[in-house]
Amino acid sequence: MKKARAKAIFNAGSRAIECLGINDGKYYCPICGEGFTLEAGLLNRKPNTNWLTEEDVPPKSVGGKVVILTCRLCNNSAGHNYEFDLVRRRNMVEQAKCLVGQQDGEFGHVIFKVGGLSLNANLSRRNGITHFDISDKNNLSHLEVSKDTLSEFQDGDTLSISPPKGYQKENIEKADLKSAFLAVAAKFGYSIAFDSRMIPLRKAIIGRADHKDLIHYMDFPPEISDKILVDEEAGVAAMKIEDRGVVIPWPSHPLSNFRKRGDWLEIRGALVEFPTGFEALVDRSRLKKT
Ligand SMILES: [Zn+2]
Repeated sequence: MKKARAKAIFNAGSRAIECLGINDGKYYCPICGEGFTLEAGLLNRKPNTNWLTEEDVPPKSVGGKVVILTCRLCNNSAGHNYEFDLVRRRNMVEQAKCLVGQQDGEFGHVIFKVGGLSLNANLSRRNGITHFDISDKNNLSHLEVSKDTLSEFQDGDTLSISPPKGYQKENIEKADLKSAFLAVAAKFGYSIAFDSRMIPLRKAIIGRADHKDLIHYMDFPPEISDKILVDEEAGVAAMKIEDRGVVIPWPSHPLSNFRKRGDWLEIRGALVEFPTGFEALVDRSRLKKT
């Protein structure tokens, strides 16, 4: 951990919490609400205690950056297990883009099914042509049979391609909720993060409540990245993670204003830049008024 960066986030947080009337110099974990002194949270961490950790939002494996601190317990209970699934999902999205001809590059290991047999192959797309390079990790008899099948391959015959390992949808959903919540917390501060409407979300992120009713996705315009969208009228905020927008509640209004199209929501609102640190904009604007 870079101490200077963590300390800067700590200081921003302990100033921001003042707008909720808490003036004890502590930093509060935005997920569980536990408060930490600088000493116990960062400088002199004691074994078997809870302390503060830097959070990449979204996780580093999908291109995130450190913008906020959460406590070790929250970070552990909602963190490392998701990374594998995030990477697997990212690979699948990239492979799908390759297959529909949107993207050139190397896309790793896929299972290539032809004539009832499975073959290990590497997927790539170069100069607009998709390649399946059958790797040498295959059963030799499968290779022979599939060679025959492929040589007789005709228009209209199908072959299927799948990733070597799927991902757990639930883990992705929880990771997405966590990232969207932490992005909003870092951007707008504790006034939003600790609003009563955020309690179910905060509980779901650390597995203390069911997340299924809370997860919503939306189409996020492809040209917009590194932005948070706030639709105050609908009472939602969203951020783009990978190929879609993840929607979370915004405290000002009830959730009933959602405009739904199937499982996806259509929301409109103000776009703000993704936080570069613990910006706590709402907290800061409230502090100035008092
Ligand atoms: Zn916590």
